[in-house]
Amino acid sequence: MSMEKQAVERARTAFLTGRARPLEFRARQLKALQRMITEQEHDIAAALKRDLNRNEFQTPLFELVSLESEIQLALEKLPEWTAPRPAEKTLLTISDEVYIQPEPLGVVLIIGAWNYPFALVIQPLIGAIAAGNAAVIKPSELSEHTAQLLEKLLPQYIDKELYPVVNGGVPETQELLQQRFDHVFYTGNCAVGKLVMGAAARHLTPVTLELGGKSPCYIDKGCDLSVVCRRITWGKYMNCGQTCIAPDYVLCEQSIQGRVVEEIKKALKEFYGDDPKTSPDYGRMINKRHFKRVMDLLEGETVALGGESDEADCYIAPTVLLDVPPHSRVMQEEIFGPVLPLVSVGSVDEAIRFINQREKPLALYVFSYDKKLIKRMIAETSSGGVTANDVMLHYSVSALPFGGVGNSGMGSYHGKHSFDRLSHQRSCLIKSLNMEAVNKVRYPPHSAKKLSWARFFVLKRVRLGSVGRLALFAVLVAVTALVAQRFLQQG
Ligand code: NAD
Repeated sequence: MSMEKQAVERARTAFLTGRARPLEFRARQLKALQRMITEQEHDIAAALKRDLNRNEFQTPLFELVSLESEIQLALEKLPEWTAPRPAEKTLLTISDEVYIQPEPLGVVLIIGAWNYPFALVIQPLIGAIAAGNAAVIKPSELSEHTAQLLEKLLPQYIDKELYPVVNGGVPETQELLQQRFDHVFYTGNCAVGKLVMGAAARHLTPVTLELGGKSPCYIDKGCDLSVVCRRITWGKYMNCGQTCIAPDYVLCEQSIQGRVVEEIKKALKEFYGDDPKTSPDYGRMINKRHFKRVMDLLEGETVALGGESDEADCYIAPTVLLDVPPHSRVMQEEIFGPVLPLVSVGSVDEAIRFINQREKPLALYVFSYDKKLIKRMIAETSSGGVTANDVMLHYSVSALPFGGVGNSGMGSYHGKHSFDRLSHQRSCLIKSLNMEAVNKVRYPPHSAKKLSWARFFVLKRVRLGSVGRLALFAVLVAVTALVAQRFLQQG
């Protein structure tokens, strides 16, 4: 039996013991994860330094703080999230218990990507633990130092049978995908997303696909370009442009492109000094394959800023491309590197058409003083999420579901959304054995009278807004039941 299969079977056996379910157990595991982050921050940051050339502050800032906040939220809200959720009743069910009970799904497979390699597996894991599941964790092999560290650390802190780490490349991931899971949570590119969904379909396993795409950024010409470009520069070049929700390209009028380039240049200098290559705050491409892929996208384009590179160091300077034609190669695929094309549009209408002619992006950014223009952009386009007058920040709000739409993915998570995504929302109806007269409307022999009573019972909605109304309905039900009983006895 393969190692992958063994890990899944062990996780399922552990899940079936029921030990992942009690709230105290879930809370203990979440606290242990918190402890791991606190105690091992230095080693985690060191692994990310080796994988992506992050400095000591960046991994805590980009990945760990938001994980700690998610753990805190889950610990605080667990009793509320796991409690039965009362559901609206009809006359037919007014005296019954009607509620939704979230329950664990079983064994979840979490497949992570390399660009935020720690958070992209730990964040779904927080949701999986909170929801009472077991989870098999498959970190990306491209961020190998983080993958090894996760394999070493997680078993020291959390239940190693319920939450095993399986490391490996494509063959190992494919072997995992042969196994039966109760949910597959995948983060990565669209092409592999299709393979993951195909493999899951063989077991009718539901999937969450956190994918990427080209996230547009529209700048209205009246904006304060100094503020706008500083915010865009921050989001675009952080992690060397390897962020799923980084602004992929800018749409703006030709007349402001020169100023946009100037302001980005100023912001780059403020963030990374005169030579980003020597800045401790500027990252590197993950590997040579991705380095070459991004460098190839520059071919034939007009470089307004940057363009320098060093293959041996996987370094690509922060780069801006001017007047990029919509049909050029750099506009056909997600860039996922430190290259920002500026594309001219004549108006907001043209920008909206441009966005709608392409696949639905993971994120959309719009900068404007005009609230109406922002609202119009939101109303007339579609994307996984939107931040207006900034970039990427919708990601940091736990109350907002994070995920894609169409080609940028399916399903969402963060905060309670992670809990709900990895739970089954079980419908529960507990009736009493009394009131049998009312039930006669559904028993044969059927008749027109029974049908009209059935209509009355089914179509009357009961709102549980106020106690007074509830009491009124209770009286109504009692009368109805009485009438029904007498009426149905005759008919
Ligand atoms: P990757 O190469 O690390 O692949 C992701 C995972 O898929 C890895 O664990 C890998 O082992 C597995 N994998 C790769 N090829 C496979 C195959 N043929 N069969 C089965 N498994 C396979 O990461 P990537 O795909 O390069 O990640 C970058 C992409 O992820 C970008 O498109 C980015 O936008 C997207 N992304 C999305 C989010 C999000 O939250 N929506 C976050 C990060 C990255």
